[in-house]
Amino acid sequence: MSELLEGLLPWHVSSINELLAVYHAGALHPAIMICGQNHSGKRRFTSELASSLLCQAAVSDKSIDLAEHAQGDDITAKRFCGTCQSCLLMQAQTHPDHYELTIPDGRKSIPIDSVREIQAKLQQTAQMRGSKVCCIWPADGLNDNSSNALLKLLEEPPSDTYFILMANSPRQLLPTINSRCLKINLRMPTNEELRGWLASAYAGGQVDEAIRLSRGFPEKAADVLAENTAGASLETMAEAILSGSQSVSALTASLESVNFELFLDALVYRIHDAAKSGRLSADGLVNKPSLQKGLASSSPDVANQSGQHLGAPLGRALAMQSLVMRTRTSLRSNPNKKLFIEAFVLNFRKISNESKG
Ligand SMILES: [Zn+2]
Repeated sequence: MSELLEGLLPWHVSSINELLAVYHAGALHPAIMICGQNHSGKRRFTSELASSLLCQAAVSDKSIDLAEHAQGDDITAKRFCGTCQSCLLMQAQTHPDHYELTIPDGRKSIPIDSVREIQAKLQQTAQMRGSKVCCIWPADGLNDNSSNALLKLLEEPPSDTYFILMANSPRQLLPTINSRCLKINLRMPTNEELRGWLASAYAGGQVDEAIRLSRGFPEKAADVLAENTAGASLETMAEAILSGSQSVSALTASLESVNFELFLDALVYRIHDAAKSGRLSADGLVNKPSLQKGLASSSPDVANQSGQHLGAPLGRALAMQSLVMRTRTSLRSNPNKKLFIEAFVLNFRKISNESKG
């Protein structure tokens, strides 16, 4: 079931409705900054907003009662018609007046050349005779030069042009860019809203696990559910690597078929839970009650700290979490998946065996 993997998040409906009401009144600010943490739905919101600004058919705002979502009704209010020429071009990702400014492959930031290239295009009249929309993500990826070039564009925006910036940490942007944008802070759902949304597509037990593993981040929870439906539960696999019950090759093979990043999240929780319940102490991993208590009461991010000075047993438990965290970071460099996972399994086993021997 993939219906949760795209579309506006239901708790953001009122925010987008407010923006569009201002737009239809002809008073929308030309630069809008969508702020929110990772996995909070910035891209969905931006995509919905861009489609709505470009749609050629006027669609009346349809407010949706959140209670309806829980009953599994249509959870995506359409701000755009979905059938006009503009909407069809957006769906095909070929709309001539929709621009994306992002970090090119192999680069670490948005280069000034990209800003200049888009600037030249935006000076021209909209090809569909409506608005032009330029989406910038991550806006935190602008460097000093490209920030300044963008600032000039925001100071004198081309006609009929809207800029939508997506930012995790707006504070990292130039204050002058910040001050030129209308800021929309995307809120996180309440537990009830998140549960209702996920339960519209999945059974209750799975939903609880997904909320726990995702720490309440809606898009991550939806990913966990999609992943668990596709194969073995992520938690089952985390249990398998912790207990050492499978061979390295068997584990590597099963891990190759899952979203490895989500698996690592599940594993961090599993290590944390095992330490908390004292289960790891039976394996000789954590055998000092005081230290065990210390680990249990800390957050999963504890692995970022060095455990060396805390004593060997706790140090090894932290070493597991630390390995997971380092692995997560290296994952961003797109390594060869099979070799990467195999190396991780071997390293993890090494730490486990050290603790038993
Ligand atoms: Zn349309």
